[in-house]
Amino acid sequence: MRVVIVGGGIAGTTCAEELRKRDANAEITIISEEVHPLYSRVLLPHYIKGKVARERVFLKLEGWYEKQNIEWLPGERVQKMDGKNKFVELGSGRELPFDKLLLATGGQVKILPEDVRGVSYLSTLDDADHLIQLLSERKASDRAGIYGGGFIACEYLSIFSHFHIPTTMVFRSSHVWSRVFDSESGSLIEKQLKKQGVEVISEAVFEQLFGEKELEGFQTTKGKHLCQVLGVGIGTISDLSWIREGHIEVKTGIKTNEFLETNIPDVYAAGDSTEFFDVISGHHRLGGNWMNAQTQGRIVAQSMCGERALFRLVSSHAINVLGLEVIYIGDTDREWADKILVQGSVLEGGVAQLFLKNNRVIGATLVGRNRDRPKLTKMINEEIDVSDQ
Ligand SMILES: Cc1cc2nc3c(=O)[nH]c(=O)nc-3n(C[C@H](O)[C@H](O)[C@H](O)COP(=O)(O)OP(=O)(O)OC[C@H]3O[C@@H](n4cnc5c(N)ncnc54)[C@H](O)[C@@H]3O)c2cc1C
Repeated sequence: MRVVIVGGGIAGTTCAEELRKRDANAEITIISEEVHPLYSRVLLPHYIKGKVARERVFLKLEGWYEKQNIEWLPGERVQKMDGKNKFVELGSGRELPFDKLLLATGGQVKILPEDVRGVSYLSTLDDADHLIQLLSERKASDRAGIYGGGFIACEYLSIFSHFHIPTTMVFRSSHVWSRVFDSESGSLIEKQLKKQGVEVISEAVFEQLFGEKELEGFQTTKGKHLCQVLGVGIGTISDLSWIREGHIEVKTGIKTNEFLETNIPDVYAAGDSTEFFDVISGHHRLGGNWMNAQTQGRIVAQSMCGERALFRLVSSHAINVLGLEVIYIGDTDREWADKILVQGSVLEGGVAQLFLKNNRVIGATLVGRNRDRPKLTKMINEEIDVSDQ
């Protein structure tokens, strides 16, 4: 069996590792646009803060691929696929035939329309190295800016706070993380940010950067924000056009069923770029976390080896926002839920949102209420009917 894996992140590499365990003879190739062997994106903020050494960020060493008899093509991008004739084409023009293909291309960060030294993104190890360099050059009077109000913006908050850099956080929506959180959860997070000295500016749209050679600040519809380093966290977008042109169904992500199979036989998808069918919540959605990507990679390997495996997982992830624990569990799509129950309040110091569909809890968010995590995960997993509760 000849297997090609596009993307050497956790989804792609886990699939390769699991395949090798199951099939000693499979010909496995990983094509990876990034030049580094597998590393942990989760550890990047800790590495930037100096809490984890650079070598500890790597989950695989270069020699691992050879030892596993896995062909690893770093620094190569797939730019074309033909699902019918079963081959992919690299930027270099090389064509690779496959019997089975995994698309595990992750998400690429959205960028501002302009750039100047001092602007930072936080997605790759190279981004982390760049931010470390910027922070090492800063002066005592420097300020930091953050543009965005989601997960990555909160990672920047934690990094800038670690280095005691006065910070202004600016975002478009009425409250932080508005795609997922109600205003009560958002207010609780903002209360914590203000308590920690962060200047928070909502409903502000980016207009331009200031500074010729080095960043001096940025302009939004709410005014000019002075800063020498700007962390941008405005979400991800994937260039899936070559996949669409290969006749794979693509919506927000690469569409799969609950077995992570695309509409073309022997072509699978896993990880952040996959819009999979969630059997618990009953609709197609993106995952966007480590546990999800890793498990999907493993499931695809199992299916490729002939044991067609269903993907069913209540994934969750947590972030500490300047001392406040914020947790997502399961499906937190506000539009898909029939009802969202809000428990707790800013005054009580904790807010939970329960996302309900057909009288079952399918997802939850917790701000300052981490004690509820095991109970809610169990409720979602067991698909308990809550109509009488
Ligand atoms: C700073 C940071 C902190 C995070 N912290 C957490 C956390 O605490 N908990 C959590 O659960 N999740 C966290 N995440 C999210 C988590 O890291 C992702 O969900 C996970 O890495 C997704 O893995 P993936 O394999 O799907 O995609 P990726 O890790 O994005 O890997 C995809 C790879 O494919 C490559 N690629 C794309 N297109 C092509 C192509 N055409 N040809 C060749 N290669 C291609 C990309 O360059 C990339 O290297 C964090 C993410 C970041 C950035």
